Amino acid sequence: MTAPKLSDFRRIVVKVGSSLLVDAAAGSVREAWLESLAADLAKLHAGRRDILVVSSGSIALGRSRLRLPRGPLKLEESQAAAAVGQIALARLWSKALAQYNIDAGQILVTLQDTEERRRYLNARSTIAKLLEWRTIPVINENDTVATNEIRYGDNDRLAARVATMASADLLILLSDIDGLYDAPPGANPDARLIPVVDTVTAAIEGMAGVAASELSRGGMTTKIEAAKIATTAGTHMLIASGQIDHPLRSIAEGGRCTWFLTPANPVTARKRWIAGSLEPRGTLVIDAGAVAALRAGKSLLPAGVVRVDGRFARGDAVLVRGPDLHEVGRGLIAYDAEDAERIKGRTSADASRVLGIRGRAEMIHRDDLVIGAAPAD
Ligand code: GLU
Repeated sequence: MTAPKLSDFRRIVVKVGSSLLVDAAAGSVREAWLESLAADLAKLHAGRRDILVVSSGSIALGRSRLRLPRGPLKLEESQAAAAVGQIALARLWSKALAQYNIDAGQILVTLQDTEERRRYLNARSTIAKLLEWRTIPVINENDTVATNEIRYGDNDRLAARVATMASADLLILLSDIDGLYDAPPGANPDARLIPVVDTVTAAIEGMAGVAASELSRGGMTTKIEAAKIATTAGTHMLIASGQIDHPLRSIAEGGRCTWFLTPANPVTARKRWIAGSLEPRGTLVIDAGAVAALRAGKSLLPAGVVRVDGRFARGDAVLVRGPDLHEVGRGLIAYDAEDAERIKGRTSADASRVLGIRGRAEMIHRDDLVIGAAPAD
């Protein structure tokens, strides 16, 4: 497939990395650059586009304002730095967009806000209202309360979840690298930028490993993870350099970038939520027959399950892997881990008897199941 055009999209999430906003060496904000980005955003906004910004920078800004020494921060230090930095960050965005009479609305999210259905729906309706009011939501992780166990840690995946939550049709990751290369671009003069990725295959994931940029916080790996979340949920994604002024104008004019395309049929909102669920609580390994049945649109029955791993409760997201342990899909499981273990490998009638229930004992109902693209390699 060929690359789409920026003008094709109606609702766009733009993710801005910390290193673009804050010049770490000088400890200052790159204000002129921010102004150029705000001008680009305002232009799209004036063209009746819905715009959302996912902005990193709370910790980096807090560090520079508090003049903290270089080197890694302890958890409570980065949380406290983020408290100072986030206020400054919000002010920067509010000021930059106000020049175009656009109100910025701050949203700070935690992992649970995007994982738990009730909180997800709540955040989604707030976003919908902000967009209806023609504001630009400016979103970051709530770094002040997020601890290591309960945080995203990188805004690439967070931005993909936000794009999914907002039903955006495009996610733009502005980075310190202008796209995905087939080899490390610094070390290899022959490294080629890949302009269009149709499907995130294992080969593409492999490139992320070698082509990671040292400067990029999340590196290329989290960007590829973001591409998987976004494209599975029906959102196109692109990676482009944010190191130039007017980065969005440059994309519109056909500047260098990598597009990750989503298949034409976007999945339903429920399936988006399941597909993007970042924290599966367990894994089911299924046999080849079950893989074929799932790909044909059937539910997962206990008979096809050969192994149950993890501690999960009914309704949790689990990964489904084939006999070769390749991910086949994800779904919401209908049983707690103990019951899943008891009925695995059994016929549905047998499973129902073991559990003392009537009716079919689907392990994962097809409405709760999202099947990934078949591995192309
Ligand atoms: N949420 C973090 C911050 O604003 C950034 C995470 C990232 O750089 O991806 O400082």
